[in-house]
Amino acid sequence: MRVGIICFQHESNTFCEVPTTYEHFASDHVLTGEAVRDFFVASKAHHEIRGMFEGLDAAGIEAVPLFSSRAMPFGAIVPDAFDRLVGELMSALRDAGQMDGLLVAPHGAACAVEHRDADGYWLSLVREHVGPAMPVVCTLDPHANLSQAMVDACDATIIYRTNPHLDQRQRGLEAADLVVRMLRGECKPTQALVMPPIAINIQAQRTGQEPCLGLYQKVEAVRQRPGVLSASVALGFPYADTHEMGSAVVVVTDDDRALAGQLAAELAYEMWSRREAYKGVLRTISDVLDEAAQLDGPVSLLDMGDNVGGGGPGDSTLIAQAILDRGLRDVFVCICDPACAREAIGAGAGARVSLTLGAKTDNRHGAPLHIDGVVQSVHEDARYTETQPRHGGATRFDVGPTAIVATDDRVVFQITSRRAFPVTISQLTAFALDPQSFHLIVIKGVHAPAAAYEPFCSHMRHINTPGDSTADMVASLTYHHRRKPLYPWEQDATWSPR
Ligand SMILES: [Zn+2]
Repeated sequence: MRVGIICFQHESNTFCEVPTTYEHFASDHVLTGEAVRDFFVASKAHHEIRGMFEGLDAAGIEAVPLFSSRAMPFGAIVPDAFDRLVGELMSALRDAGQMDGLLVAPHGAACAVEHRDADGYWLSLVREHVGPAMPVVCTLDPHANLSQAMVDACDATIIYRTNPHLDQRQRGLEAADLVVRMLRGECKPTQALVMPPIAINIQAQRTGQEPCLGLYQKVEAVRQRPGVLSASVALGFPYADTHEMGSAVVVVTDDDRALAGQLAAELAYEMWSRREAYKGVLRTISDVLDEAAQLDGPVSLLDMGDNVGGGGPGDSTLIAQAILDRGLRDVFVCICDPACAREAIGAGAGARVSLTLGAKTDNRHGAPLHIDGVVQSVHEDARYTETQPRHGGATRFDVGPTAIVATDDRVVFQITSRRAFPVTISQLTAFALDPQSFHLIVIKGVHAPAAAYEPFCSHMRHINTPGDSTADMVASLTYHHRRKPLYPWEQDATWSPR
């Protein structure tokens, strides 16, 4: 028996002015064949693709790596990039010969300029090619904006159950186990999708805390019911302006369509009935800085408007400017600014530099900072690693040529050439920066950083900053494609599952 593996992942922030190009994918990876296995398995990535390989290997079924690509979030995927990647994916599938099953791993929030439900589109092409009888099991990120097209293209859908995402490898193992059981004739999955009309605020999407915790406990109880093969919640990604944007529930049963529909409806209604709790907590920079002044450090300040893992440019200066204006000391800030990194590296360690730093991608993330400081260290090669399971599952990171520059008040700027996804404490320790030496650590993320930073920080505080990934989605973002009614925009919306 042979089971093919396909990975094509993008979380598209359609409010971001920088479109996602083929080069963005290539700068992470575009791979076919055995190189896919090397990328995920040899690197010990805590990723669903590694779990899929391991699960198939353990069952004695040949895993056939077909195609894998992903890119960090930017704007919608441009047509030539999407067409080329889908073409490469389909060629790999056609060329691989006879397959007995497929494991597919989209992200679930990809949006292409000409195919807004991008994942539904390519999954449908895959299903069309392999025919209706082939077992196809799909894994998704909970930031998926799940669509009927995605669900229709697959026999079963399994979504990670943690945010920050720490169970990706386990979900890959679960998907592999399910496809193996299908191939052995031990089960016959059928699934039902219900989409309650709610978009959950990004600030309220931490699965281990309320308001999500109680919901996930109910999902777990459903998963334990007789006849249920899997049950999942999509929290949704509010920054992809698509018709499907928002939350969803999918339940997979063993050949019991009515039970799948009933249980999905129950969970969706549970979500709907909690809708007011999902609006999130939105606090201003000054409010949080006032509080932080009274707190023992380190205090993480989470910059939700410049969430690198959600499409933020990584160069917002809004929190840093407020910190400089207040004359605060012992602060860590990371800013992506390749020109300034080059300038500081050119000056060399020990040199005093004056920089015009950050806020160069667009005019929505503050104004450039004027800083004066001493170059602490320079790093032409700024690669670092992480061994523990962290959000996204990556174990290798590369932020490009980087300089550490400190002001006389010890506001320490890490100036990178590529956006740093803040999911590992190695982002500091690999540069000889002790996280506990700071009172404030500015982090460009929402919940993804928690697993890495919480052990080092006394407090974590979310800040409602403006930007491409602002948490203030109702007041600050203009949607053209979302479904209506959709809570919290339409506050008076009524809904009951059919
Ligand atoms: Zn996610």
